[in-house]
Order: sequence, then C-alpha cells, then structure tokens
Amino acid sequence: MSQYKMWIDGKWVEAESGKTYPVYNPATGEVIAQLPLGGVTDVDKAVVAARKAFPIWSKKSQADRSAIAMKIAAMLRDNARELGKLDTLDHGSPAQRAAFLPTASSLNFEWAAYNCRSLMGHTIPSTSEDLIYLQREPIGVIAIITPWNVPLMMVVEKLAPALTLGNTCIIKPPSIDSLEALKFAEMLDTLGLPPGTVNVITGPGGIVGDALSSHRGIDMVAFTGSCEVGKAIMSSASQTVKRLQLELGGKNPVIVLDDADVDAAAAEAVGNQYKNCGQICASPGRFYIHEKVYDQFLEKMLAGAKKFVWGDPNDMKTQMGPLVSAEHRDRVEGYIKSGIEQGAKLLLGGKRPTTAPLNKGYYLPPTIFTGVTQQMKIAREEIFGPVACIMEKFNSDEQVLAWANDNTYGLAAYVWTGDTARGMRFANNLQAGTVRINAGHGGGPELPWGGYKESGLGKEGSLYGLYEYSNLKRVQVDLAVKK
Ligand code: NAD
Repeated sequence: MSQYKMWIDGKWVEAESGKTYPVYNPATGEVIAQLPLGGVTDVDKAVVAARKAFPIWSKKSQADRSAIAMKIAAMLRDNARELGKLDTLDHGSPAQRAAFLPTASSLNFEWAAYNCRSLMGHTIPSTSEDLIYLQREPIGVIAIITPWNVPLMMVVEKLAPALTLGNTCIIKPPSIDSLEALKFAEMLDTLGLPPGTVNVITGPGGIVGDALSSHRGIDMVAFTGSCEVGKAIMSSASQTVKRLQLELGGKNPVIVLDDADVDAAAAEAVGNQYKNCGQICASPGRFYIHEKVYDQFLEKMLAGAKKFVWGDPNDMKTQMGPLVSAEHRDRVEGYIKSGIEQGAKLLLGGKRPTTAPLNKGYYLPPTIFTGVTQQMKIAREEIFGPVACIMEKFNSDEQVLAWANDNTYGLAAYVWTGDTARGMRFANNLQAGTVRINAGHGGGPELPWGGYKESGLGKEGSLYGLYEYSNLKRVQVDLAVKK
C-alpha cells in the first residue's frame, strides 16, 4: 500500500495534523493508499505559497509560460499509460479506455499554450485626443476544486488555462480519487516552476474545499461538481466576492423524433449511458422517444445494454467497471429503489452482483427503467450511475420540448432527427448550454462547455473559457496637450 504526500510550496509534505485517510480500489474494496488528511492550516500554507509565487509566475513572458504548457502536454502523453493504470486502480476506469484520457487531457495544455499567446487586447475608437485600450491580466490565486468522475481531466481542464495565463493554483482533488492528481503533480515538480505556483492538497471537501472557498487569499474558485456543493461554494465565496467558474450537474434530455435514424440513436444511447458507469455530467438523464419509434428504439437499446460488457476493469474486454465508491453505489441504489416505489418499470439490471469476485467491488449492471414520468424523483434528479430512464412516449414536438425543459438543470441536450431544420428548431428552444443533433457527447479544448440554469456559471474550453481565468482591464489615456 502506498503512502502519499501533498505538494505545497514546492515541497512534499504530510498534513499538519499528521493524520491520513484510506482510499479504496472500487473493483475489489481493498485499501490501496493512505493520503494526508489536509485541513485549514494546510490551506493557509498553500495560500501563502501561491501568493508568493504569483508575482514571479505572472511576470514571466507569455511565450515562456506557453513553452512550459507545451512541456506539460508532452508529459501527459508520455505518461498516459502510467496515469491510465492509476485511473483503473483508483477510479475503476476500464483499462481499454484509461490511457485515452491523459492523452486527451494533453490537448488542453497544447491548446492553452497556443491560444494564450494569441490573446489580443482591443483598442476602442474614441477621439483623436485619447486612447482607450483593453488588456487581459491573470487574476491571482485560483482554487481548483474537482470531482471524482474523470479525476485527471477535470483538474487539467481548469489548470491548463489558469496556469498558462499566469495564475497560481491550489488544486483540491476529490478526496476519494486523488492519486492521478498527485502523480501529475510529481511530473510538474520536475519542471522547476517557482515553488508554490501549483499546490495540491488532499482531504475532505467540507474542510479543505470550504477553507479554500472562504479564504481571503483566494481570488477565484474554479469548481466542477454537484449543484449542492456549487451552491455552498457560492455562499462561502460571496464573503470576499470571489470570481467563480462552476460546472455543475445535469439531467440531460435525449429526444428521439419519429424521423430519426433509430439504430444510430440507440447505439449512441447505450455508449453514452453506460460509459464510465454513467458517471459523466453529460450522460443521458431522460430519454424521450416518439411513440412511432418507441418500440423499435427500446428493443435496440435493450439489446445493446445486454451486450455491454461490464465487470473487472483490468480485463481489456470490459466496457464498464465498478462505480466509484460504496457510498456512491448506495446512492444509486437508492434511486433504483425510488424508481420502483414510484411506479417505473425496471426492465433490466438494478441489482448488485452477489457472487465472487464481483461481489467485493462496487458494481451495478446496466439498468433500464421504462414508464418514467416527469414528477418521479429519478426523472428530476441526477442519478450519476448506469441507470437509463426511458420516459413516457410523446407524440408532438411542443409536448416533448416542454417536458425536456421542465427541469432545474440545463447542461446538455441531444436531438435525433432526419430533418436538420427540425433539429435546429429544437436547438433554438432547448434550455441547455450544449445541444447536439444526431450525436452523442464529445468535446475538445476549442469547444465551450457550461450549463444553463442550475448547471453552472461560466464556460470551460474555447476562448470564452480562457477569458474566465483573466481580468479585463480598461486603460484610458488622455493625449491632449495640457498647457
Ligand atoms: P461533489 O460536489 O460532491 O464534490 C466535488 C468536489 O467538491 C470534491 O473535490 C469535494 O471534495 C469538494 N467539496 C465537497 N464539499 C465541499 C464544500 N463544502 N466546499 C468546497 N468543496 C467541497 O461532486 P462529486 O460527487 O465529486 O462529482 C459528481 C458531480 O460532479 C455530479 O453532480 C456531476 O454532474 C458533476 N460534474 C459536472 C461536470 C460539468 O462539466 N458540468 C463535469 C463532471 C462532473
């Protein structure tokens, strides 16, 4: 079993309290590592270090910072297999997919490196007697608080723009899934960054995360996680009016219209629903299927879900591993129970394995409910598990649009149709930050991502995402000759 340390002020340290906590392999339930149980004093130390590093790091030229970002991108690619193995061990990601994620994450640093170098200011026409220009500046010390669902990528998506633009950062990875962030920090440690430019503190969100969100020395919180914690962070951060970037939950509608390519929609539905055990913010939350294609879609989706290979994540054939923790599986099972109690029909799965070896891990099979209605808890709340909710059939565009928008979340939506104009009319009316027509979830650093309604604030990715991590300053010069 490995004993890890935190990275504060360029040094590898224990928690001030000297305490540690265990983390588990979700595939076996075994303890795999002990991590420092960070606390408020550790946060104070990291804030002092990051503030000390800020004038040094932010005053480097953009070309120098971009060159370092390119080195980080290369490191992520070169170490993709090792990072992927940790992802399988710590998170339960299927080995067949694990190395892909660090490689994909490297693109965030590459993209930030190029695009920060070409972030231009503006001049604003006024009179011949003055000059007004706008410039972008780093914000200061940014707390990066991330969830466990894609542990490394969630850190990198925020760190790449924040660091490359000249901010210094304190990363608070998810307490149950911190190993990849710590391994990544070991790589950063070889780059000779000014001590304190990047810091990593492990420990419970309610203590470390809250101390960061309320700390006077933190200028911005970049957070990905649940809506509940996002609201708590908004409240703590309000005391010092911190800049916030919040990527929160979703309950994403998938609408299959009567003219859709049903085979393609069902195939994508299976992959999108069960990939990463449904633990993706963009996973389908509600399937709305037109009555004319309902039976055909259901038959195909059921067949696809039955074939989806789940089990030991180390087996290269496995497409879906365990859920991330015993607590999270209990939570998902609570939703399954509630669906049954409220009258939805459990068509597939729903029960944890009871025989060895899978009974030791936190597994649930691909699960499908049908007959889900708008008011059921499983239709309203984010399950974040391998549970597909097939809603009542619909027969009009107006009806399904109203149902799709009837939710507090507004992260993503998917429309399947043979008529692109019809799909675009849906896109115009769906309350979601991303609408994909005839496609499942996919991304890249050049694409903006972020929710409407309670799904978040601000954007990640694209130039809009870069702007989140910089302040915009107006400089106004009076050129008139003064006597
Ligand atoms: P979570 O909100 O429980 O935890 C996220 C992070 O916040 C963790 O590091 C946690 O330790 C920390 N935290 C907990 N309490 C805190 C507090 N009081 N103050 C500050 N920090 C605190 O989320 P999770 O269970 O790790 O992840 C799942 C959630 O993340 C889902 O809701 C999912 O939709 C969301 N998510 C959203 C996106 C997106 O891009 N919109 C992407 C991935 C995940």
